[in-house]
Amino acid sequence: MANILRKDAFIIPEGMIYLDGNSLGPMPKGVPDRVASMLNDEWSQMLIKGWNKAGWMGLPEGIGNRVGRLIGAPVGSVVMGDTLSIKVFQALASAVKMVPERRVILSDTGNFPSDLYIAEGLVGMLGQGYELRTVAAVDVVHSITDDVAVVMLTEVDYRSGRMHDMKAITKQAHDNGSVMIWDLAHSAGAIPVDLAGSNCEFAVGCTYKYLNGGPGAPAFIYVRPDLIDTVKPALSGWLGHRQPFDFDLNYTPANGIERMRVGTPPILQMAALEVAMEVWEGIDMHDLRAASLALQEQFIAEVEASVPQLTLASPRDPALRGSQVSFQFEQGYAAMQALIDRDVIGDFRAPDIMRFGFTPLYLEAEDISSAVAVIKDVMDNDLWNNDTYKTRACVT
Ligand SMILES: *Cc1c(COP(=O)(O)O)cnc(C)c1O
Repeated sequence: MANILRKDAFIIPEGMIYLDGNSLGPMPKGVPDRVASMLNDEWSQMLIKGWNKAGWMGLPEGIGNRVGRLIGAPVGSVVMGDTLSIKVFQALASAVKMVPERRVILSDTGNFPSDLYIAEGLVGMLGQGYELRTVAAVDVVHSITDDVAVVMLTEVDYRSGRMHDMKAITKQAHDNGSVMIWDLAHSAGAIPVDLAGSNCEFAVGCTYKYLNGGPGAPAFIYVRPDLIDTVKPALSGWLGHRQPFDFDLNYTPANGIERMRVGTPPILQMAALEVAMEVWEGIDMHDLRAASLALQEQFIAEVEASVPQLTLASPRDPALRGSQVSFQFEQGYAAMQALIDRDVIGDFRAPDIMRFGFTPLYLEAEDISSAVAVIKDVMDNDLWNNDTYKTRACVT
């Protein structure tokens, strides 16, 4: 197996063990110079000329191709922009139009709330009997009935790390005449994804989690190549127009994935993300997966052997788990605050989940053992039982 450790490519504060790359990846070392050059050599010196001269306008597709390599998407099928919530809306609004005689959007009750809220909002806008139906994750495959227009799922559950079977569910959706959307928020950069092989129509995801693009980094959307030129973009912004600089009064979508662009891309964020994507050069996602599972198995074994206060809340079978491990503890919020205070960074998801992300680009076995030693100390000595750890901050 190729060595995929790239610890030197990231800034990680001295002494910190970062188990939260599933929420916000660390900063790649090359980012400050690239962003400084964007500011000092491009924006300030070129001003408006930068769109052509520095290639700003091409960044959404160029970076899309780099992301595409990690998720099994062919060149020209992924474009960057906006936030994931907006990309969910875009995919969903386009997908329902492909099956106009059906009215149901099917998802699961473990999905990330924003995806469900966006679906609710769209259903409210559409009226006409549209409905969002949610079932337990294990029941999805049996719930794709002939009134389901679109199946919209997040492959890896943000709380438990449980993973759906992308290929099997997509096939089930297609056998039933439904359109399939996958949210890859906890998949891109975390596990191997074979979008082309799964044959799904749409996929979306963010880049600030496992891809390390920085807070607020642009999201991505994938459209299956055979559909790209017929999909109707619901967010018909000028940069998705065939000829934006003709300033036509009417919208004609661009050919290709460009039609999923909306408005002006955030170039400072794109500059940071481009550097982050360079770190992935030469990484084989199957090697990364093997390394991630080794770290996860070590973590589970060590926690279960030495910290009986915590109960595994992720699937025990590694094949059913993404790249995170969750443990349940009634005072999980306070316990996580105590860990964070001791430089072991994970996060908390209500009501009682302590979540740890595994990112083999910058974590190795000795980090896991050091983290477990701190967890054991916090739990054995009730160090979490301290009022300062019990007041919830706005971001948990
Ligand atoms: C992280 C995450 C989001 C966040 O959406 P933003 O618009 O980027 O804030 C949405 N959906 C899922 C499944 C996520 O995991």
